[in-house]
Amino acid sequence: METNRTETRSLVKKLLAICPHCKKQIYGNDIDVSKIDINKIRNWPLPYIYCHSHENYPMHALTMYLDANFTVRAREVSDFITIQK
Ligand SMILES: [Zn+2]
Repeated sequence: METNRTETRSLVKKLLAICPHCKKQIYGNDIDVSKIDINKIRNWPLPYIYCHSHENYPMHALTMYLDANFTVRAREVSDFITIQK
């Protein structure tokens, strides 16, 4: 598993995507890639929802579909978010 850990470390600095809405650059570090255990993911691409506000843009959600190499295959932005706990 040592190789996986090294990969995760380099992913932290990887530019995954640029939000099409606010143009924020999203790095592995922003979505905490270390929380994702790729060995436990059965269905790729993995939808990852990243909520953020950036500069003059209010909070919005960017869904990134990640493949097993953490390359973003597709992106989707939504301005409508409700998070209930
Ligand atoms: Zn954005």
